[in-house]
Amino acid sequence: MNIGVPKETAPGERRVALVPETVGRLGKAGHQVVIETGAGAESGFPDDLFTAAGAAIGDPWAAELVAVVQEPSAAHLDRLTRGAVLVGMLKASTSPDLLRRLADDGITAFSLELLPRITRAQSMDVLSSQATVAGYKAVVLAAEAAPKLFPMMVTAAGTLAPAKVLVLGAGVAGLQAIATARRLGAVVSAFDVRPAVKEQVESLGARFLAMENQVTSEGTGGYAKELSADQHQRELDFLAASVRDMDVVITTAAIPGKRAPILLTRAAVEGMRPGAIVVDLAAESGGNCELTQAGTRRDHHGVGILGPVNLPASVPLHASQMYSRNVATFVGHLIKDGKLVLDFADEITKATCVTHEGKARL
Ligand code: NAD
Repeated sequence: MNIGVPKETAPGERRVALVPETVGRLGKAGHQVVIETGAGAESGFPDDLFTAAGAAIGDPWAAELVAVVQEPSAAHLDRLTRGAVLVGMLKASTSPDLLRRLADDGITAFSLELLPRITRAQSMDVLSSQATVAGYKAVVLAAEAAPKLFPMMVTAAGTLAPAKVLVLGAGVAGLQAIATARRLGAVVSAFDVRPAVKEQVESLGARFLAMENQVTSEGTGGYAKELSADQHQRELDFLAASVRDMDVVITTAAIPGKRAPILLTRAAVEGMRPGAIVVDLAAESGGNCELTQAGTRRDHHGVGILGPVNLPASVPLHASQMYSRNVATFVGHLIKDGKLVLDFADEITKATCVTHEGKARL
């Protein structure tokens, strides 16, 4: 099959959907890849690396299957051929206009963030691969912004105590943040409402914060559920007390399909040490801290609150490399002997296919 890879045009987006290594792998599987010139330039993959891997440089929008990172612009959607396949993090479930448009244009579209969290889909799981990058980068941002060093240091000028880092929400991004902060030498603790997480946190050398009458909430598919108002208030009180002596708090809590839960109130921030840093990875979905402003840093009572958006795009080489492997595995799942084979009884296909044969499937 002919696979097109355009240059991403969303503001700040530096990733590319396929990297040369995977182009080679797809070539061996019998696919031809067409790259838009400069598609990988910002992620460290110039055109010549793609051509060396067997890609052609040309118009990616004319291809039978187009792989993207983010939702294409309306002008680019115009250039897709009727009957083409579109694969990417399209956020189709929250974009009814896009969904209608793709259905009207006869595009078979797959929204990769809808992949089920099942073992079979792990190698295609774009949420996990990109959350791994975000969790790592959140710690790097915190270390850069903090007025302290992270590790303990015994020097001729005296002994420095290690920084204390608290990670709230220990899913994929949170566990990576714990591992990264530990590698930098911080003393790390973490909190989550899913009880299963305690062991994972401890296996990374961090302490799991225990509440009296632990608040727990486990939904389907390994995700958390929204807490009741009473449980939420107890959590807020517990966290306000827990963040008082922290140097860094990294928040990653999310509930699928809902606004991110508030974990840090204004009062909790006001109780923190001056110079402390909050990195709110949930900034794009409303923020875990009441004071977060997405895309910017805000200072309140001497505490710096960072609300970074699209962190994976700030580490574009490795983020693209992982995304590309996810996409190539997904393409391998869909295409057999050069033909699109759609089995809607298959969990992966059923969950991700958002438009087909002129109809929206959500
Ligand atoms: P997520 O981004 O939806 O949420 C991040 C974390 O926030 C979760 O650990 C969640 O429990 C936590 N959280 C939610 N509300 C909270 C609150 N009020 N207070 C504290 N923490 C709160 O999660 P994710 O990183 O996408 O991972 C969710 C689950 O899916 C995990 O169990 C993970 O192991 C699992 N998973 C499975 C696969 C697979 O099998 N293919 C792949 C990836 C993840």
